[in-house]
Amino acid sequence: MSTPVALAFLGASVLFIVGIKQLSSPKTARLGNLVAAAGMLLALLATLPLMEAHRGALVPAINIALIVVGTLIGLVVGAVGAYRVKMTEMPQMVALFNGAGGGAAALVAAIEFATHGSHSPDGAFVVAMLFAALIGAVSFSGSIIAFAKLEGHFDKPVTYPGQQFVNAALVLIVATLGFVLAGTSHSVVLLVVFLALALTFGVLMVMPIGGADMPVVISLLNSFTGLAVAADGFAIGNLALIIAGTLVGSSGTLLTLAMCKAMNRPVTNVLFGAFGKVTAGEASEDVSGGTVKPIHADEVALLLSVAQHVVIVPGYGLAVAQAQHQARQLADELAERGVEVSFAIHPVAGRMPGHMNVLLAEASVPYEQLVEMEAINPQMERVNVCLVIGANDVVNPAAHEDKSSPIFGMPIIEAEKAGTVIVLKRSMGKGFAGIENRLFVRDNCRMLFGDAKASLQELVAQVKAT
Ligand code: NDP
Repeated sequence: MSTPVALAFLGASVLFIVGIKQLSSPKTARLGNLVAAAGMLLALLATLPLMEAHRGALVPAINIALIVVGTLIGLVVGAVGAYRVKMTEMPQMVALFNGAGGGAAALVAAIEFATHGSHSPDGAFVVAMLFAALIGAVSFSGSIIAFAKLEGHFDKPVTYPGQQFVNAALVLIVATLGFVLAGTSHSVVLLVVFLALALTFGVLMVMPIGGADMPVVISLLNSFTGLAVAADGFAIGNLALIIAGTLVGSSGTLLTLAMCKAMNRPVTNVLFGAFGKVTAGEASEDVSGGTVKPIHADEVALLLSVAQHVVIVPGYGLAVAQAQHQARQLADELAERGVEVSFAIHPVAGRMPGHMNVLLAEASVPYEQLVEMEAINPQMERVNVCLVIGANDVVNPAAHEDKSSPIFGMPIIEAEKAGTVIVLKRSMGKGFAGIENRLFVRDNCRMLFGDAKASLQELVAQVKAT
């Protein structure tokens, strides 16, 4: 690798790291995205001269044409996808992009192994290639299943007796094949079988896990893709791949652990546990016996106007209704009347990590008004009104009270401790976990039924009129 190319890869890696750092704050996140994208462009351009150096001859025009066409297709698909996808469908898009990354890493590894593996004396090279092919293929097929689950294609997690035994046996077979490939045999047929079994394992690994756990699974598969890319980089001696892959691998692992911590569950429980196995309709508790108490907007407006401290808990329904601007208007109106208003952010509210932060930042809600779950819960008993806007699972007290509940142990925003809880939603519809919410029949809870945007518009008008 020539010095300019090595420097370009180093520059690209620095841009990736700076970009990720900037993503950690809503204020700099947009810039961070652009910085990381500039790094990717630099890495792409720096790869072109490598082809020539690698072949020791001029690169045929057809290869250049293929790269240009492939890049253009990627650009169009990426740009159109990013513009058209709804915020609520972002996790699906992440799953697809991650799957594509894993698949690409597996293909590079498999092709390198097939062309150079059989006559390479370098054991580390062979092992790295097989590792990348295996992990990349698992990430590819697992991400496709995760995408399908988030799209609602598999209503029920697929489980059967002895499932974990079958999965463990498959891992053993794939590992044995890997040893054979790395050792004595470099057969392409065996490599194809190895890849096919790795793809099968990706499917079998994700199928039993319920839809509600898909964000964690996608994050885990994301770290797999990173590892596969880093192994590719190690085998073909590409510094940028090693650094980019390691960044993706480590950030994916950290995000997985952070999400599991937010749900108070070990990763093994997500992968092999019971939470995801409960499906919509299999409610472990029944609140149908309780009394749901509806309320009108004018009454809510009155309660809000005379409150000292109001906490707003946004959830997935706020995103569906696109009511973030109205939520901010209401907060502004109340603040003008001397009411202290905070937005309580649950780490898994919505359908992707940081979903509520993104929505509220879009509506220019001041960052100081956002309070994390751990910080707001100790204050809840002193809160006069808790306004739950389109949130359900993240305020469900069953997480603390009902040991048989699939969300038992998940930390929640303790809305029920506030003086009065007002829930804005359209009906008694369930949330993502598909279970009843006993908060809705509590004595201090009232339901303001309707689309969140329409309800908030009315509330703003009513508060202005008070
Ligand atoms: P939930 O999915 O639990 O509940 C959302 C509620 O919003 C529903 O009960 C629905 O009730 C209501 N709603 C839908 N549309 C509207 C509308 N237009 N106006 C008013 N209300 C509406 O959301 P939460 O945010 O509380 O919880 C998130 C759940 O999603 C958790 O279980 C989490 O594990 C899971 N998840 C989280 C991801 C993440 O990374 N953040 C990713 C994927 C899943 P109704 O139909 O009656 O209106």
